[in-house]
Amino acid sequence: MSNAPRISSFHPPKRILLGPGPSDVHQRVLDAMARPTVGHLDPTFSDMMDEMKVLLRYAFQTENALTFPVSAPGSVGMESCFVNLVEPGDKVIVCANGVFGRRMAENVKRTRGELVLIEDAWGKPVDPQKVEDAFKAHPDTRILAFVHAETSTGVESDARLLTEIAHRHGALVIVDAVTSLGCVPLKVDEWGIDAIYSGSQKGLSCAPGLSPVSFGERALEKLKSRKTPVQSWFMDLNLVLGYWNEAKRTYHHTAPVNGLYGLHESLVMLAEEGLEASWARHCRNHQALLAGLQALGLELLVEERARLPQLNAVLVPEGLSEPQVRADMLNLHGIEIGAGLGDLAGKIFRIGLMGNSSTVANVKACLVALESVLAAQDWSVTPGRAVAAAETVWSRA
Ligand SMILES: *Cc1c(COP(=O)(O)O)cnc(C)c1O
Repeated sequence: MSNAPRISSFHPPKRILLGPGPSDVHQRVLDAMARPTVGHLDPTFSDMMDEMKVLLRYAFQTENALTFPVSAPGSVGMESCFVNLVEPGDKVIVCANGVFGRRMAENVKRTRGELVLIEDAWGKPVDPQKVEDAFKAHPDTRILAFVHAETSTGVESDARLLTEIAHRHGALVIVDAVTSLGCVPLKVDEWGIDAIYSGSQKGLSCAPGLSPVSFGERALEKLKSRKTPVQSWFMDLNLVLGYWNEAKRTYHHTAPVNGLYGLHESLVMLAEEGLEASWARHCRNHQALLAGLQALGLELLVEERARLPQLNAVLVPEGLSEPQVRADMLNLHGIEIGAGLGDLAGKIFRIGLMGNSSTVANVKACLVALESVLAAQDWSVTPGRAVAAAETVWSRA
């Protein structure tokens, strides 16, 4: 091995993750992932996975039997919904008001569905009237797909209303809840959502790489009535079911054992806090951050009624260098915030307060750091005002 390069263990820096994901992973979750690896067919592991399904059903607010984590990031959860439910020729209305809606549209094309694309401006919620109109123009539509919490813009769309419209027109819904799960109200059964996917690294604050999904009865019927096989072997739910839903589990793929320990722990933590308490915490810390940002003379992109508390898209005012703000936040203060994507690149930066990242301490650290980063760019700030403004919000709560 004399030619082996001298590379030693990787020790990442300790950051505060206030970007669009991943969010800060709690020490309890990191500890869980460091526990001994067992075989993925070990009976103790099966017991843990049964608990996982119970915990996921709670997080999604559903009784759906088919609720489990796909062994891959949120994008594969997205793709799983489309490859299983869209058959060649199926008409699918996709609502795109940001990056992830456009990805859904791309999925429809690749599954050879017939795409009906409805676009809304980046920074605006999906317009229900446009969805109504699209159904009237395309009464043979089988599926409506939309993003509940559009992470690229910080916008929440009305998932309950959009689902209701789709059902009224005899279509199923596929919902992207990657950034909404655990952060804002989401009720799969009450709202009648047919297929939904999320991610481990946003509101759940687990390490990246797992995608909780849930499929309701109507989605399973659609799957069973397929005339063509699902074109993906790995994502074919008919095959995955044998592993997740049978008493005697059979080998499908090697489950990412330690990652699943982490997801289990993060879901235990969510259940301990309680979903409603988590939603309220996200809301409170968002209000506090917003008060602080306004004290710094900054404003949000999104109108109040559609703002996501867990993803704050901050408009970059004239005279500030957006890349410099992000670089200084990271290099001088150890805080990661996100850039704008696509149409919004350079126009916004994104402050995520997701899951375990949504804390009083993080909001304060972010405001203190921003204050000094802005001051370095000759932006007029009154030292201490931002945190004081945030404090008034917490003291009211
Ligand atoms: C992050 C994200 C995804 C993709 O998840 P990955 O884990 O990065 O593959 C999909 N949709 C939304 C809304 C997201 O925020």
